[in-house]
Amino acid sequence: MKCPLCNRNIYAKGLCKKHYEIQRLTKRKKEIHLAKLAKLEKLQELLTQKIEPKTKEGMWLQGFADGEGSISLPITKTGGHASRVIALHNTDSALIKKACQYLDKLGIDYHVKTRIMINKKPIQIIFISHQENFIKWYQKISFTSPKKLYRLKENIKNYNRAKFSWNNKKQLKTIELRKQNYTYYKIGKMLGCSEHTIWTFFKKYISPT
Ligand SMILES: [Zn+2]
Repeated sequence: MKCPLCNRNIYAKGLCKKHYEIQRLTKRKKEIHLAKLAKLEKLQELLTQKIEPKTKEGMWLQGFADGEGSISLPITKTGGHASRVIALHNTDSALIKKACQYLDKLGIDYHVKTRIMINKKPIQIIFISHQENFIKWYQKISFTSPKKLYRLKENIKNYNRAKFSWNNKKQLKTIELRKQNYTYYKIGKMLGCSEHTIWTFFKKYISPT
């Protein structure tokens, strides 16, 4: 028996090695596409539900974020992708600490940065990014502000349309830049991804604590 498409010897499933691989890849592509569609459908369904925070942590964080929080636009004015980040800022470190504890309790990842101000108290900022964290925020905290809620939903829906991909090349480049003492922020800027992505990468894979 020969491959019906090219007459080479059979490798598997009645096809030569090349044509078998092609068929296998197309099938896999179709599966990935269908899985993406299913995920999108589930997201749409989730985003149409009206969500109220159910825990005291969720309620507190909602209040805090309504007053002291901001969420980036899903798409910038020039049509590109914005930073996709929820930021909570305060000069009172006790409040920031409390917010972090509550985020931990709700299983939402974040990182904190301190911004030094001239002649003023330093501001601490909690950054939350990545679709999975946005979805958790939506389910467990949400916003009362319609504008912020709209931005959150759009950020969640548009997440997969990101232009950058976090691949091996970027990981190697990240390690290289870090050795040259660049900050997470600077590396993110250079590679076109968030500071949080860089930070998580180091935390999870390079120096887990
Ligand atoms: Zn063939």
